[in-house]
Amino acid sequence: MEMISVNKITKKYGDFYALNELSLNFSAGEQYAILGASGSGKSSLLYLMGGLDRPDSGEIIIDDNSLFSMNDKEMALFRNRYVGFVFQFHFLLPSIDCLQNILLPAQIGGVSDKEVKKRSLELADHLGVSHCLEKYPYQLSGGEQQRISIIRALSLKPKMLLCDEPTGSLDSENSQKVTSLLKELAKEFSSTLAVVTHDPSVAEHFDKQYHLKDGRLIN
Ligand code: ADP
Ligand code: MG
Repeated sequence: MEMISVNKITKKYGDFYALNELSLNFSAGEQYAILGASGSGKSSLLYLMGGLDRPDSGEIIIDDNSLFSMNDKEMALFRNRYVGFVFQFHFLLPSIDCLQNILLPAQIGGVSDKEVKKRSLELADHLGVSHCLEKYPYQLSGGEQQRISIIRALSLKPKMLLCDEPTGSLDSENSQKVTSLLKELAKEFSSTLAVVTHDPSVAEHFDKQYHLKDGRLIN
């Protein structure tokens, strides 16, 4: 079953086509690398799939729901319930500690944070960042911050885990660790995983790869 179907998506910035009638599919629970040079449209695609932006034309169907028929409120609910994002830079809020950062999606979504907290503590233990939970983001290393942001992204067991250059600010050892971690966790949570990267050593860990060039698919 196709979980995410991207149908002829065009995204323009002024006269520039960031995505040009792009169509591709993601099967439920599978893991994908999205490759392409800088400027090829990778981030634009990911933001559209996650309901952070709207296209000029085209549609994205997720589990039979047409994403861009939703109004802004429905889309925000969709993001909260369906999507976990991991970015190159972590976007943790600086004024609250890491555990509060992790519990934020549950609080925003009105989900009881008891179960989320239990799962997050287990994940933190598994990822070796238990000692970071009561610290503020600035007190952590880059690799630790990225692990905390991964736990936050997974806190509501998202059906889609969308990662934009998640290893872009890490050294190669941490980069490998984070990549295998994302794959392992997505499997455990039965999430569909899409990882944007321009790094072939990250992409080679994925059986399924989509290559973008100038807003189009080249494979
Ligand atoms: P990638 O993630 O592959 O580097 P992006 O999707 O970020 O590519 O961007 C694709 C193209 O669209 C780039 O040329 C970029 O400069 C342009 N672009 C992206 N976002 C904007 C924006 N908000 N305004 C204008 N141009 C943009
Ligand atoms: Mg990008």
